This record gives sequence, C-alpha cells and structure tokens, in this order.
Amino acid sequence: MSDRELVVLGTASQAPTRSRHHNGYLLRWDGEGLLFDPGEGTQRQMLLAGVTASQVTWICITHFHADHCLGLPGVLQRMALDQVPHVVDVCYPAENREVFTRLRHAALFRDVLNLRERPVGVNGAVFAGSTFRLEAQRLSHSVPAVGYRLAEPDGRRMLPDRLAAAGIAGRDVGRLQREGRLMAGGRLVTLEEVSEPRRGQRVAFIMDTRLCDAVFALADQADLLICESTFADADAGLAREYGHLTAGQAGRIAAESGARLLVLTHFSQRYDHDPGGAQRLADQAAAAFGGEVVLAADLDRIPVPARRSATPG
Ligand SMILES: [Zn+2]
Repeated sequence: MSDRELVVLGTASQAPTRSRHHNGYLLRWDGEGLLFDPGEGTQRQMLLAGVTASQVTWICITHFHADHCLGLPGVLQRMALDQVPHVVDVCYPAENREVFTRLRHAALFRDVLNLRERPVGVNGAVFAGSTFRLEAQRLSHSVPAVGYRLAEPDGRRMLPDRLAAAGIAGRDVGRLQREGRLMAGGRLVTLEEVSEPRRGQRVAFIMDTRLCDAVFALADQADLLICESTFADADAGLAREYGHLTAGQAGRIAAESGARLLVLTHFSQRYDHDPGGAQRLADQAAAAFGGEVVLAADLDRIPVPARRSATPG
C-alpha cells in the first residue's frame, strides 16, 4: 500500500445513483489523512474502504452544498465515539462558519472532539508543515467555494554513486544533509555535489466551479489533479449556468497546468443510465489532455504518481 494515495469514497454529484455514492475523498499522505468533501454516507463508505475515523487528521470542505458536507455530522460523531485523541484541522469557506457549526451539532452527542477550525477567507497558504503546505483559492460557484492544493516542500535526492565516489557513507550522509558540507577524504564535499534537486509532490483538489484563474493556479504542475467533471461537453450551457466544469474543461485545466494524472469525478446522475455515459466524459477530457485520465469509481485507491526524476522547473 502506497503511503500517498487517494481513497475515493464517493463520486456522485447532487444525487447518488445505484453505482455512485455522494462525493467523498480521503488523501493519505504519510501519516496524515485529509478528508475532502464528505457527502452523505461517508461514514459507511469509509468502513467499506478500510478507513478509520482516527486516520482523519484534516477535513477540507470546498463548499456547503449537501453533496459536499452532509456526511460531516456522521464522520464527526464517529470520531467522538472512537475518542479520536488528536487535533483535527478543519477548513471551509469563511462566510459559512455558521453552517459548519450547525452540521457539527446536527444531532446530540458527547462532543469530545478536538477540532481546530481554519476558515478560509483569502487565497493563499492555510498551513505550512514539514511534509506539506496546504493552499486554498476561491472558486467561482453559486455559493462561496474554495479549491485546495497540497504541495510537498522541494528537497534534494542523494545520488548513491556520487556519495560512494566521495567516500561518504553511513551517518555521514545524514550529517551532510543537515549541515550542507562535510570533510571527506581530505576535501570539502558539498551537498550539491552529491545530490540533485527533488521537486515535492503536488496534489490539487478542484470541486464545483466554473473555469476561472484559480483552477489553473491550483492545478499548476500537479502530480495528481482531482477535478469535478459534472457535465459532458454537450451540456456546457448547463455547466456555466450552475457553476460547474465539463469534462473537456477538466482536460483543458490539466493540459494547460502541466498536470500528470487527472482524476475525474463528481458526475451528474444524468450520465449514469447510459452505459457509455461516464466513459464519454473520460474521452472528452482525454481529447484535451494527453496525460493519463482516470474515471473515478467508488472505493478506488489511486496512488499519487511517483516523483518526476526531472529537476524543479
Ligand atoms: Zn457538488
């Protein structure tokens, strides 16, 4: 099992179907679990996916339409029931703090949760830690909405052949990484000589929105881009009217942003009755984007693509 992967809990927009639960996604990132947009039924989907309440360390809500948040009461109460001891950070559009509070207290329970609310009011960094930095951008939907971007800090990859040539091994490798230079074999060796730049991995999460500058900022050079594609290209008028993307637009975002893996999700129920309906969405995205396109299905596990070997651009 990969240490960094997307666990798809649900993939339907607006109304669930026989084969698709409401939205919901857990991004596993080393020891962290970021739960995005828990729609109705997320608690049970977590059970089916083998995700426990205690694995969740962050909850990121893009907006407060039902398909993105009605699972919150169940998930939060399950966390309380399981007595999750750690702090859970919660992000959501700042204008709708009251809606979050209502969802948290939608039913009566013994609230022993340790939540740290981080309402998102402006574009930019929400959090910066050692394994990732979380950024948010305001989207263009019918209600306040934000997209998220998770970026690992850039680092350096040690090159074993150059380390060996310089006669550096064992604990000295760690010392060189910490201190940036080291005396070895009678000469000064710098970190740059025996390593190469390693770009941090990047994941973007874009839900309900029209095309806007923010989606390109979020998706920039993303290794994994999770993007709503509510409508087929033929329904572009509906997409614009209701503040959504078409599959073709999702493909365009991925292409223009230099993304690597595009995961399409948040499908309208209108395509579920037609056997080829969902596949057509993938084809439309692929027409605009030459990279890999995955049509998300409930309970999929999608690893974050392995690092690029190229140097940071
Ligand atoms: Zn939605």
